[in-house]
Amino acid sequence: MEQKGLLFPKKVQKKKRKHHPRSIIPGDQPAWCYLCEMPKRTEEHHIFGGPNRRASEEYGLKVHLCLSCHRTGPKAAHGCKATSDELHRIGQQAFEAEVGSRRDFIRIFGKNYLE
Ligand SMILES: [Zn+2]
Ligand SMILES: [Zn+2]
Repeated sequence: MEQKGLLFPKKVQKKKRKHHPRSIIPGDQPAWCYLCEMPKRTEEHHIFGGPNRRASEEYGLKVHLCLSCHRTGPKAAHGCKATSDELHRIGQQAFEAEVGSRRDFIRIFGKNYLE
């Protein structure tokens, strides 16, 4: 029997894109709210939600927010368009700095949030 290849298994290229547990947003950290910059208990917010949530996870486009900035406050990411728009711009900037081109971003997320 031919044993070659079993003794030296092919080097498998790891797909880094599959799961990106860490945020690539500059300054984001779990123990601080990204928006109010207070040391609070935080929740992970995927910057691009809905159908783009998976891609948000895949590319690390997420930030840690306190409950108020995430859901319950007047400027919460899930309640305030100005806040979510700002986060969309920050997310696209981070993508273009760390991952790929604007064309790539638009291809994946379906929209351009930057001028
Ligand atoms: Zn906050
Ligand atoms: Zn969220």
